[in-house]
Amino acid sequence: MTTNSRRYFLQRLLASSVTIPFLYSSVASGKTSVLTANQQGPTLRVALMGLGDYASRVAEAMQSCKRAKITGLISGTPAKLQQWGEKYQVPEDSRYSYENFDSIRDNSNIDVVYVITPNALHHEHTIRAAKAGKHVICEKPMALDVKEGQEMIDACAQAGVKLLVGYRMHFEPNTLEIIQMRDKGELGKITFFQGLSGFRIGDPSQWRLNKALAGGGSLVDIGIYSVNGARYMVGEEPIWVTAQETKTDTIKFKDGVDETIQFQLGFPSGAVASCLSSYNIDHLDRFFLSGDKGFAELHPANGYGPIKGRTHKNELRMPHGAQQTLQMDEMAAIILDGKQPIIPVDGIEGLKDVKIMEAIYQACATGQKQELKLL
Ligand code: NAD
Repeated sequence: MTTNSRRYFLQRLLASSVTIPFLYSSVASGKTSVLTANQQGPTLRVALMGLGDYASRVAEAMQSCKRAKITGLISGTPAKLQQWGEKYQVPEDSRYSYENFDSIRDNSNIDVVYVITPNALHHEHTIRAAKAGKHVICEKPMALDVKEGQEMIDACAQAGVKLLVGYRMHFEPNTLEIIQMRDKGELGKITFFQGLSGFRIGDPSQWRLNKALAGGGSLVDIGIYSVNGARYMVGEEPIWVTAQETKTDTIKFKDGVDETIQFQLGFPSGAVASCLSSYNIDHLDRFFLSGDKGFAELHPANGYGPIKGRTHKNELRMPHGAQQTLQMDEMAAIILDGKQPIIPVDGIEGLKDVKIMEAIYQACATGQKQELKLL
């Protein structure tokens, strides 16, 4: 969103929904900010696929959803299907394996499949769910490369279903507050963004350190938050990227699995971003946005919360709730009501990040600046 008008922001938000957005007050600023929870309307019936760590978090958070509920489960482990089925009251005929889940097309009690499997499986799982006539929410990174991502978008379009990417930060209140301030012009002309995304990864045998299943290393898993964040915080699409890779442990971080990457993005306005992605540096979870009239900071910026924000004016103290509760209620409104989110979460949005990450890897490999054409 490029306009500087708060009124436009509100108009767009209100026009985008048939339900009533909730208004929350920022304690420190005394301002009213828009948190876009839609709590009225039909319920989104969700089949969770891949019952691992993140699916557990989503499932717990969904217990507080007003507009989304778990009505299906897909897993390769029968014991998990039984345990989760009992816990979340999903009947046996709505529990599937990876082999037989195409028959989900006959299940009228499921609207959407939420793909939460390892990265390399997103492509196949998304396309099969779409062919079964179900909407798809796919976890980040949406795909391993641009070709895969485009095929996923095309398959969903052909099947007439929606494709969303599980970008939970796109609904996070402090983040949206900063975007609103930026669009009002309170930060002035945006000149710089810094994104720090990383942690020290443990168990060397996990799929995240296996190129075939992960598709990369830190960048596609955690650095993607800075890639994506640079775009929504600056409010423009980057036109070039440069990048440098550092590897200190070639046994843990094998070929094609990046340990640490620094990358820089250039935007049409002249703004630049400087970002760090790492699997071997702790405490990296910070966004900083600078304009010629002020600044905004999120620190932590992308953890499960509470997210903390401050600006040149004051601290942001937006209410904290489980991010995945908000995300799934919002996604219900996007899928069922046709609501337009403030920051897009569709397949095209996911593909833009995949394009940038491909260019970052290319820049690391060649040492050359890469031009980007995202629009
Ligand atoms: P996980 O390993 O805990 O869970 C993955 C699940 O996929 C497991 O239940 C596993 O059994 C299943 N699976 C199916 N086929 C598999 C195969 N061939 N190999 C390995 N596992 C297989 O991983 P996770 O942390 O839940 O991550 C899953 C996805 O969710 C990833 O794409 C990740 O990037 C994404 N994620 C997103 C967020 C977020 O905040 N949006 C957070 C964590 C993970």
